[in-house]
Amino acid sequence: MMINFHGRTTKAKREAITAAFEWVAYTLMDTETASELEIDLYYKKYDDNNMNQDLAGSCLVIDEDPKPWLFEVFINNTLSDEDTLQAIFHEMVHVRQYATGQLSENLMHHTWKKKKFNKIWTAYMDRPWEKEAYKLEKVLYAQYVKEMK
Ligand SMILES: [Zn+2]
Repeated sequence: MMINFHGRTTKAKREAITAAFEWVAYTLMDTETASELEIDLYYKKYDDNNMNQDLAGSCLVIDEDPKPWLFEVFINNTLSDEDTLQAIFHEMVHVRQYATGQLSENLMHHTWKKKKFNKIWTAYMDRPWEKEAYKLEKVLYAQYVKEMK
């Protein structure tokens, strides 16, 4: 997996964040899928007017030829260490969902396990891929803390 880190922070923090991405990629995905990923990582404040300032993170597919492999991931740099790790794990669950074809989207719909969800009419917490990401971010955090001891 390749991670292109964008954002100003300490070397220690950059290394800790990169290590967490590596760890979760190979924990969540098989070696082949994980190793083919490239992540443009933006570790910054949400200053974009189009974005929710409180957002912990976000994930976008940039290239899906022949399948999703290039992603843009934002992680809010105002979070605590624990929230930063959970945001990383949450967004990487979405990366797995896209990379394995469980989740895809177009202008109007998300498609989750072959079922269509209208983007406007499906409330955030009614989205099964979000439920999975929120559940797993906590499970992964507990596992990470345990393994790093
Ligand atoms: Zn999410």
